[in-house]
Amino acid sequence: MKWYMKNKTEVIKELQTDVEKGLTQAEVDSRLEKYGPNSLKEEKKRSLLSRILAQFADFLVLILIAAAIISVFVGESTDAIVIIAIVMLNAFLGVYQEGKAEKSLDALKKMSSPTAKVIRDGKTSTVDANTLVPGDIVLLDAGDIMPADLRFVESSNLKIEEASLTGESVPVDKNSSAEYNEEVSLGDRKNMGYMSTVVTYGRAKSIVVGTGPDTEIGKIATAIQVSDVETTPLQKQLNGLGKVLGITTIIICAIVFGVGLLQGEGVLEMLMISISLAVAAIPEGLPAIVTIVLALGMNRMVKRHAIVKKLLAVETLGSTTVICSDKTGTLTQNEMTVVKVYTDETIIDVTGTGYSPEGEFKLDEKSIDYKSIPDLKTLLSIATLSNDAEIEKGEESYKVVGDPTEGSLITLGTKAGIQKKDINKTFKRIEEIPFDSERKMMTTFHENFLPERVVSFTKGAPDIIIDKCSHISIKGRPVPFDSQLKKETMTINSQFSKDALRVLAFAYKEYPALPRDIDKKEIESDMTFVGLVGMIDPARPEAKAAIAKCKDAGIKTIMITGDYKETAFAIAKQLGLAEKESEAMMGAELDNLSDEQLQTKVKTTKVFARVSPDHKVRIVEALKRNGNITAMTGDGVNDAPALKKADIGVSMGITGTDVAKNTAELILTDDNFASIVSAVEEGRVIYDNIRKFVYFLLSCNIGEILIIFISILANLPVPLLPIQLLWLNLVTDSFPALALGMEKGDPDIMEKKPRDPKEPLLNKDLVTRIIVQSIAIAAATLSAYLIALNFYPDKIEESRTIAFTTLILAELLRSYSTRSQTHTIFEIGIFSNRTLVYGTLFSFGLTLAVIYIPFLQPIFDTFPMGWQDWKIVLTFAFVPLIVGELFKFVKR
Ligand code: ATP
Repeated sequence: MKWYMKNKTEVIKELQTDVEKGLTQAEVDSRLEKYGPNSLKEEKKRSLLSRILAQFADFLVLILIAAAIISVFVGESTDAIVIIAIVMLNAFLGVYQEGKAEKSLDALKKMSSPTAKVIRDGKTSTVDANTLVPGDIVLLDAGDIMPADLRFVESSNLKIEEASLTGESVPVDKNSSAEYNEEVSLGDRKNMGYMSTVVTYGRAKSIVVGTGPDTEIGKIATAIQVSDVETTPLQKQLNGLGKVLGITTIIICAIVFGVGLLQGEGVLEMLMISISLAVAAIPEGLPAIVTIVLALGMNRMVKRHAIVKKLLAVETLGSTTVICSDKTGTLTQNEMTVVKVYTDETIIDVTGTGYSPEGEFKLDEKSIDYKSIPDLKTLLSIATLSNDAEIEKGEESYKVVGDPTEGSLITLGTKAGIQKKDINKTFKRIEEIPFDSERKMMTTFHENFLPERVVSFTKGAPDIIIDKCSHISIKGRPVPFDSQLKKETMTINSQFSKDALRVLAFAYKEYPALPRDIDKKEIESDMTFVGLVGMIDPARPEAKAAIAKCKDAGIKTIMITGDYKETAFAIAKQLGLAEKESEAMMGAELDNLSDEQLQTKVKTTKVFARVSPDHKVRIVEALKRNGNITAMTGDGVNDAPALKKADIGVSMGITGTDVAKNTAELILTDDNFASIVSAVEEGRVIYDNIRKFVYFLLSCNIGEILIIFISILANLPVPLLPIQLLWLNLVTDSFPALALGMEKGDPDIMEKKPRDPKEPLLNKDLVTRIIVQSIAIAAATLSAYLIALNFYPDKIEESRTIAFTTLILAELLRSYSTRSQTHTIFEIGIFSNRTLVYGTLFSFGLTLAVIYIPFLQPIFDTFPMGWQDWKIVLTFAFVPLIVGELFKFVKR
């Protein structure tokens, strides 16, 4: 269907819709049935079989399979069966856990999935973009990603970037009134917008004409994508570690095998020993646990209002050294209330709180009628007319729909009895130049305000507006805005700003008729200045605590704002973010600094005021060159480059545009600075936890190697059989390891310096601990084994069972010590990790089963131990735990 060649009325008629009221919900439901959901073909999921096979593609698992095959040749077919069974069990567990991780990732993806602003049943609401149907009326704003193929019916200064479709990265102008009598190419259809392209400027109302696979992009993207499985640096490190361990194992096996043969041992026996070694050395459970712990961590972050879009970000978050945050809405509440007005050379106080219309205008503490000051009347009209927000009466309080800055201006008007709806009818808006954070102002054009004239009303940042005004209105008449008057106005502006008020300026200009060419430079100059308003935006109470927390954690907080320097500094001071005025600088000063100079300057600057989006990019670059890991917030279209540059781009879930959310790694569901800090904290906890169970599992593996190696050198019978080792590595050890991955984290986790991202997981400290622990484990197990051998010289099963039980119990006990690298088990509370308590009890139960259930005994080569045996086990099983605790003591 060539929608662009039809005029608006034809489109409306053909799609049977209503531009004002939209479709009814019933109609939407029935069309959804007919056309299907508005989504491109689902990504193809990997089949169950291919997932299971993927588990076997692991290098370590292949060694195990080789071990099983050798067992068959050696005649130990039970061993072979059990090895294979355990490997299978591991594969299924792996698939199950990966599935669970993937599900929670999918759920996260859904949370950050696209939405669209629609009119349905006469009401405006935000819906899941998947539910759009042809005929739906969609409203578009700068920063929106087109949710479907659309035909515009109203548009204002609309610009769309269509790179995703046409490859053209310069935004193109669009216009709802364009009409075509002949075919034109995709990139030239001004009255159409296509799915996945981006609104970079302006606004529009549009009708959905194509959804899902019927969209232009849908036609191209029918090729089914298989999603890439993302591996994080940590996972890569662990995979590498696995390989190193595997190869080392093979080498050690070969040496042991050779030495054994030279010593005159039988080939079969030596083969079995080599297999034991191979099994002992491999941390089979590790990769699966890492994935699940990362995914669970992401879920925990969601509960703390932070959605992480990539596994990788979880790791990066933990090493963040600088957080650059917007002020408005993130560090402050974004609940604006106008408290001061300056017009006609007078400062007027305004009473009342929030968006409620109750309040008065006061001059020297006495109530006044706004009509008594003509300039005040004009200012209130501009404030209400050059305004896109709305105030709604909620159940408990009044709420803004739209920009809170503008909401506070509507409330200001209602305090004088000016209703936006009425005044908008009288002085109809006929054209506009929307707000953008580069120009820092917006302009609207109105009829009837002056007889036979058109006026433009501009509001925006005071320094910019004052600069662009040639006249000032005093006693209702324009007089030249000379330098003396400008200076006076600027003084009032900085006086307001120093009181932490956000200040906006208002101006107007008149024309005989609506200018044909709306040239921003021309329109927004030579204006008549009307006045200033000062609004408070209280700091978020939790932000102060969060900033203090960052300080303790060695993380620097930088405020980056479009607002005035004095306002920004005053709030920064309230928040404990900056102390001296020299720590604040203006965006414009940045333009005069070279990259090197900026690099030095960012070290001491804590507030960047009057910043435009491209300054943000330079700030991130400078911080990164200083070796920082930088998190940066942003919400507008223009913020995307800075978000991309930052190590962690953070977007606002409530006020953020689609574009910002798409680019960011982290989305804050409550737009709150404190949530970034929570996410960093979670990131640290997760990394710490991964480190804990890697430490836990690896020291066990190395302990096992030592046990077998030493017993061979000492010419003792092998103390642990391959099956027993596999059982321990894959089953009894994995429950405590998983529980360690769910630790809440050390209480002082936010009192340490950020982790160096280049530092390997196995740093010096961890390697020392692993060595100490593996020696303790080997010593404990071998001691128990030797005593047992002495007691029962001809009952090898009994001695092995004692060694096996000692090792398992030692592992379970020492898992409690592994919970913290610095705090003793008493300090953190022995039972404070419930999952660990249940996990270890469960593993212990499984161990008892293997020892005491008769039909399992031949499979695991175990012996039902008596009280005497338990005494030996209990004597030595506590050794690694005690050594671990003593080590913490020495380290302190
Ligand atoms: P942040 O602290 O998050 O950067 P900001 O609102 O100060 O927020 P911008 O949105 O870029 O940053 O706004 C820049 C400046 O433009 C503001 O300080 C204000 O002077 C002016 N401004 C903001 N909103 C409007 C608006 N709706 N109409 C006109 N001017 C505005």
